[in-house]
Amino acid sequence: MDVVTEKEPVTRTALEEFLRDYLETIGGAWDEVEPQVYDLLLPARSREAPESFDPVVVRVTFDPEALPEHPGAQLASFGTPFVTGLLTDAIERGRTAELYLVGLNLAPHDLAARVRRTFLVPADQTMVVERVRALFFPQAVYWSEAEFVSDQKEQEVLPVALDLHYGRQVRHLEQLLDRARLSEVPDQALPEVRRLSVAAGYPLAREESLRTFVALANARSRELKERLDRQVSRMARYYADLRKEASELESRARARSEDLARYASRRAALEREEGLRIAELRQKSALRVQMRLLNVLVVQQPKLVLRSQLSSDRVSGQVELVWDPLMEVLEAVPCPVCERPSFELALTRAGQVVCSACATRRTATKERR
Ligand SMILES: [Zn+2]
Repeated sequence: MDVVTEKEPVTRTALEEFLRDYLETIGGAWDEVEPQVYDLLLPARSREAPESFDPVVVRVTFDPEALPEHPGAQLASFGTPFVTGLLTDAIERGRTAELYLVGLNLAPHDLAARVRRTFLVPADQTMVVERVRALFFPQAVYWSEAEFVSDQKEQEVLPVALDLHYGRQVRHLEQLLDRARLSEVPDQALPEVRRLSVAAGYPLAREESLRTFVALANARSRELKERLDRQVSRMARYYADLRKEASELESRARARSEDLARYASRRAALEREEGLRIAELRQKSALRVQMRLLNVLVVQQPKLVLRSQLSSDRVSGQVELVWDPLMEVLEAVPCPVCERPSFELALTRAGQVVCSACATRRTATKERR
């Protein structure tokens, strides 16, 4: 007869949960031999990092006390090469991803009235929406990490989102990354709007994250400098005391007409030591910053493109307006002349729709000729 010993139920750690999820995600498998002891089937090595997985089946334990019973097992805990390898691989796999924003209302109420309320056009011109079309507007979120290294190491991770159609930054990250609205499959397949590639958008995102990281680095660097100044003056006081003491001894020796050579060398040694200690302090508080791109997520967001016509009694011109169903706003139109986004539009004499500032400038130039 088999004797089954009931073990106390063990609560699984975050690392254990991660390992189970991770293996299922990458197409591997796990078998719980006993609580906290697993046989893992790792899938074939990945082509990008062939050294990351050598054995195909490994036994691991999350419980160091189980090691004597399973001498072939590896201990799975943070910091062990095995777990570090898995975590690195998981980050590599998550480098880029594409998700869809779902559940957006693509038939907003009375779009024409919203257009009239949002866009300002000259009194003698009228805007008419001719056609509405839903398209995917890819929004790229770039997560960068900066590592600040001085006598300690700190990391900051910063996401920057770009609308790849306009190449401009998106501020509503929270809404964009709302898990309840993100899905691996779209509500409906849509064509994509004209867009920058993820790579072409990166320099713009990097510039933005650099701005923040530089500000953080400056703040840290100021703190370090203040601390360094305090440490250097403390050190200088300490050596000044030692020198004072040495020179008192020296004067007493002089009074006794002793040989002063050893006092001179003591003085030189103190100076050398002080110089070294201060250089050491300066070196320790020098700040180095390294920045790298961690992950990129492309969120395919449906938006409505409103092909519209702006007309006066003489000319008319086309303009594309964009309705963002996530934020429920009409977006500013980038002026084709000055490229500035604007809600004030006007026609030129040639029938081009530009921002009102450019329209005024053009008219003024024409009249001067
Ligand atoms: Zn303009």
